[in-house]
Amino acid sequence: MRADLTFGRAPDPGPAFTTAGASENAAWFIRAMIFSGELGPGDRLPPGRDLAARLGISIVTLRVALKSLETAGYIVTSRGARGGSSVSDLETLGRCWRAWMRDKGHELDDICELRETIEVRIAWLAAQRRSSDELEAIDRANALLVETGSSVLRWNVAFHDSLARAAHNSHLERAMVEVRGELFLPVDAYLRQRRVEELVAAHGAVLDAVRRQDAEGAAASMRAHLAETQSVIKLTVEESGQFQADVPADPPGVSRGQPQDRRSSPR
Ligand SMILES: [Zn+2]
Repeated sequence: MRADLTFGRAPDPGPAFTTAGASENAAWFIRAMIFSGELGPGDRLPPGRDLAARLGISIVTLRVALKSLETAGYIVTSRGARGGSSVSDLETLGRCWRAWMRDKGHELDDICELRETIEVRIAWLAAQRRSSDELEAIDRANALLVETGSSVLRWNVAFHDSLARAAHNSHLERAMVEVRGELFLPVDAYLRQRRVEELVAAHGAVLDAVRRQDAEGAAASMRAHLAETQSVIKLTVEESGQFQADVPADPPGVSRGQPQDRRSSPR
């Protein structure tokens, strides 16, 4: 699974790391996998032992993390022989996302600036460096849209991923995935606002420029796409301020990940 590439750097917990801190970090990793589209709505989480090993934590610590994610609504857990944890449905994730964004509101502009820096550069490089196979892969990823919530999310992720691969810079690619863990496309917002056509057109413009090997054009199209995404995000966050009561506050360890906590995380 692709998540291995970006989130699988089994961290060394280190002696200064408390179990509480470790479970908060684990919750942050798993939530980032969900927000970044590595794990989609309804997907089953990897078996507990594998996930714990990948995160470099004990199974007990993992259970604490999963419990807090479940309480916040990100995942559902069923018991029994075929039991296990899976990602919630798209609607529930949308509510989680709005709660998360309300929490992070003050950081939103910073995150968007970072995302623009990374992804505009990726588009610019991809236009110059893409091979014909990579162009075909971007084209294929972009042709896959089926208009259900989950697949719009996957489609968008697949497009940006294939573009990043064509840029031939693994550090930029990793940075893109990480920033997406902070700020994923509010796909349910696009659907509710009936703006999926805009999304398709925006990707189409980037793709055309990459096909022409027009670096400046690809960069400009990506910048426009991200600016539009940012406006949808802001609108959705503002809207959700009017019905704050619809989501329980995230418990500690899920939403809170203060930036300084994360910087001290062993990644
Ligand atoms: Zn996009």
